[in-house]
Amino acid sequence: APVSIRPFLRDMMEEFRLDLEERGALFRYEDALDREYTVDLDPKRFHQILRNLIGNAVKYGPKQGLAVRVKAYVIEENLRLAVKDNGQGIPAKDLPHLFERFYRADPERTKDFSSTGLGLAIAQELAQAHGGKITVASEINAGSCFTVSIPCRAQA
Ligand code: ATP
Ligand code: MG
Repeated sequence: APVSIRPFLRDMMEEFRLDLEERGALFRYEDALDREYTVDLDPKRFHQILRNLIGNAVKYGPKQGLAVRVKAYVIEENLRLAVKDNGQGIPAKDLPHLFERFYRADPERTKDFSSTGLGLAIAQELAQAHGGKITVASEINAGSCFTVSIPCRAQA
């Protein structure tokens, strides 16, 4: 269904902010939209995409001092949501495989976590179901940035 993206994201991000602050983490949402846009989306599924990404930032991030920053912007009729953390980062060799089912980067390092390796595969499928995709950039010991990209159109 067509959704006005600004209020939709504002409410959703407020929910994530409260959740992360309760865990002692910092959460910042920046709306860098130049105007209002409409996106055809399924609110529950779109929410799950963000939940999986932010959930990973929490799971793999530092116990103390975790910071998650989400920025919304539009490039060429594509809504982008960049979800950035200050965690351990992901080795470059793992990046091409992250969205494969059951893939876990460095299973030795993730063995303490309940982890099936499905979260990103599901998030990617949900993004594709919206006509979009998720990409990742990461730097060891600096953090990771997952960007969700979904087609949108300027609101009349
Ligand atoms: P699940 O989400 O099914 O509980 P999972 O978190 O292991 O399990 P994915 O969410 O698909 O599975 O993530 C795949 C792997 O990518 C993780 O096992 C982890 O190694 C790595 N990863 C994902 N997000 C991050 C992140 N923000 N920082 C560091 N590593 C990450
Ligand atoms: Mg996960």
